Order: sequence, then C-alpha cells, then structure tokens
Amino acid sequence: MKIFNKKELLNQWLISERKLSSIGFVPTMGALHQGHISLIEQAKNHCDIVVCSIFVNPTQFNDPKDFEKYPITVESDIEMLIDASCDALYLPAIDEIYSDGTQTLEHYDIGYIETVLEGSTRLGHFQGVMQVVNRLLDAVLPDVLFLGQKDFQQCMVLKKLIEIKNSLTKVEVLPIQRETDGLAMSSRNRRLTEFQRAIVPLIYKCLISIEAQQNVKSFEIVQKECFDILERKGLKPDYIVLADAETLTLLDDYDSNRKMIALIATFIGDIRLIDNLILQKN
Ligand code: AMP
Repeated sequence: MKIFNKKELLNQWLISERKLSSIGFVPTMGALHQGHISLIEQAKNHCDIVVCSIFVNPTQFNDPKDFEKYPITVESDIEMLIDASCDALYLPAIDEIYSDGTQTLEHYDIGYIETVLEGSTRLGHFQGVMQVVNRLLDAVLPDVLFLGQKDFQQCMVLKKLIEIKNSLTKVEVLPIQRETDGLAMSSRNRRLTEFQRAIVPLIYKCLISIEAQQNVKSFEIVQKECFDILERKGLKPDYIVLADAETLTLLDDYDSNRKMIALIATFIGDIRLIDNLILQKN
C-alpha cells in the first residue's frame, strides 16, 4: 500500500495509475474497525483502485475535548488497510488540508438537513464535515465515494455537497457493521469502560423495539419507554426519534406510507454514540 502525506504526490500517483481505472474513496478519521474495513472491501469489489484517508478533522468537532480525546492508532490502522488490500492511504497533516488556517472557511447552505438532530445538537459539525470532504474529494477525485449508514445524516449532507460541487462522484451508502451484541462499531467505543461497554448494546435494543412495536403502540409511548430504559442505566440521550428516511422530516408517529428510520444519539459519560435503523415493515 502506498502512503501519501501530500496531495501533489497522491495526484501524481493517481494520474499514473488512472488510465482506465475507477477510483473508490473511503474517508475516515482512523482508529479503524471492521465497519471501516467493510467499506474498503466493498470499494475493492466495485473499483480498480481504492484510496482511504485518515484525517481527524478539527473543524467538525464542536467539543474541543472530544477532538483531544479522539483515539489515534495510525500504525494498527495501516496494518488493517494492508490486510484489506487497500491501494493507497492519504494521511495529511492539518496544515496540508487547511493551508490558510481554519479561521475563515467556506460556508455551505444546505437548508433543513443541517437544522435537525446532529445539525442542531452539534452546531457547526456538518460545515466542518463538508469543509474537509470538499478538500479530500479535490485531492482524490474519486469515481465513487463509500460512506457508512452509521452516519446517516452525514450521508445526506455529503450527497448535498456533491450536488453543490456539481461533482460526478457517485455515492454508495453501506450497511452498519455491528458487534455480536448489536452495538454499532465505532472508533469511540474504544473509550468505553468495561462497565459502560456492557450497557451500550441497549441503544440497538431500543432501535429494534421501535421497529418491532410499529403496529402495536404509538411512537410517543415507545419513545418514552426507550428514554426510560436508557436513562435508568445512566445514559443521557440527546434524541430518540422517528423520521422519514428520504427527507429526515421528523415524525410524531409511525407512518406506514413512508420509508421510516429510527435514530438515537446518546451520551454515556462524556462519550457520545449514535446509531440508527431503517424500519422494515412488519
Ligand atoms: P469515521 O472514521 O467515524 O469518520 O467513519 C468513516 C466512515 O466509516 C464513515 O462513512 C462512517 O459512516 C463509516 N462507518 C463508521 N462506523 C461504521 C460501521 N459500524 N459500519 C459501517 N460503516 C461505518
């Protein structure tokens, strides 16, 4: 696997490799797990060349402490990428991405999608995500961008970014990889204590119960039950919602005429976890 710290060198290599090859791109913040590797594997299945990036982007952290504590495991990340036959890793420094600093950066108008859920609870987060992915897309010029459904709202935001850029890059959204007890894989899981780790599978259990009770109870009741279950164990949910999976319009109750998604964000201690489930009709 080739490793590049500089966009120019990455570009030179990509130009030499490109010819008739298709490029798949998997942007990450490192501390890789099987969820990330599933994206690399799918990218390998669909594209000739797969580029992964690892960059912990300061502009998308609304909480500086979260940025400081974000796990960094570059050496084992590199080993995992080699094992997954990733072709190239782009590993830029902060001033390589933000050569003019991070004080005055572009702003994207993406409307409603930035005003709810992650957008309203993590102010500025999606602007930061778009600022970095804009630069990464310009560096890699991929044919296909591979994203995880784990960050469902982020996928919608990045589709908007691609629209705004008039880019031809296609977006593939891939399923959430879970631990055997249902916990969605996440780099932040590494920070959980053993005690916290034993509790957090409740998040997925709540999502499953929201799905299971769609023809049984009103969502208001199920939502309250989920808040109670999580809060009783010391979690502090930011939101437990049901939304239209196409538009992210928040729903007061189940609506079988729509494709629905349940989304949860919760703190456990100072660690914030998110998860979601697209509801199957039952
Ligand atoms: P991150 O490193 O958290 O920024 O994630 C990089 C990419 O991996 C994003 O597209 C995420 O949605 C995706 N991802 C993170 N966790 C998972 C997971 N458990 N399953 C599938 N994809 C994931």
